[in-house]
Amino acid sequence: MILVCGGAGYIGSHTVFELIEDGKEVIVVDNLETGHKKAISNKAKFYNGDIRDRKFLEKVFKENKIDSVIHFAANSLVGESMENPLKYYDNNVYGTQILLETMNRHNVKKIVFSSTAAVYGEPKSIPIMETDKTFPTNPYGETKLTMEKMFKWADSAYGIKYISLRYFNVAGAHITEKIGEDHNPETHLIPIILQVALDKREKIFIFGDDYNTSDGTCIRDYIHVTDLAHAHMLALEYLNKANKSNIFNLGNGEGFSVKEIIEAARKVTGHPIKSEIGERRVGDPEKLVASSEKAKRELKWKPKYIDIESIIESAWNWHKNSPDGFKG
Ligand code: UDP
Repeated sequence: MILVCGGAGYIGSHTVFELIEDGKEVIVVDNLETGHKKAISNKAKFYNGDIRDRKFLEKVFKENKIDSVIHFAANSLVGESMENPLKYYDNNVYGTQILLETMNRHNVKKIVFSSTAAVYGEPKSIPIMETDKTFPTNPYGETKLTMEKMFKWADSAYGIKYISLRYFNVAGAHITEKIGEDHNPETHLIPIILQVALDKREKIFIFGDDYNTSDGTCIRDYIHVTDLAHAHMLALEYLNKANKSNIFNLGNGEGFSVKEIIEAARKVTGHPIKSEIGERRVGDPEKLVASSEKAKRELKWKPKYIDIESIIESAWNWHKNSPDGFKG
């Protein structure tokens, strides 16, 4: 059985759907702080609880024959992490410590885990390689890097093998349109733009247009959530073949500015999408674009959604059908 921590969240729920589709037995643990019960496939066994709760986690491991873990349970907002860093240390770092201790007690030796491009901070060169230096510029990235280091030492001491997947900007929704991105409050660029297209917001604020980029707005590398879900499955297969622990970037290798994303969304939605230049957001790096050659080569990962309009269109289909997210 595969334990998915944070399986009610955006990326977790999409991965659970793909695992079930592939015939796997899945257990979801989620405290529903940011996740949604409705996002969990009804074919997965669900435990509502927190990974920091040692007794609760012990019960989950006792009651199930867990073979491997995919770990999404974390807080993931750059801005919030700048204002409340200790929340990030508590949930992301301490939570992972309890998870690793419990895995070790139950002799579970394989874990795939969500890391982030935020571990790199402001990159020296583009595209970013896994061998590049890591200098996070915010507590979110810092706690994810700390988690990676915990895995490294847990591997050397207890033989727990890990794959760290450093995601770039995740977007889009499941092809069935049953699940998609729903954060409250929403802070991510594409869902906010689509809320403007749905007339739920008046305009989108562009966080700074004085960066050293072609049009002055920040550049990001957007990857579809289903492509990301497949990468987790390939990472598990990789560990099942007794490969060593490893780290992979996951992105499309192409950067789009905030203005370019708004323009692409105008094309997809046919809505004028009003925008206004606002202040820079603290902690935002100027440009993040991945090299995912290593994942393609070693995991045999092949992203299917490689053009930005198809990614935005898939998000749009979900937002149109579920304008109130999982509450609808
Ligand atoms: N962004 C923006 N306006 C918004 C939300 C985001 O201009 O209302 C910008 C943000 O500064 C960043 C990019 O869009 O450059 C992507 O931000 P998001 O929060 O989606 O992801 P992050 O890069 O923080 O993981």
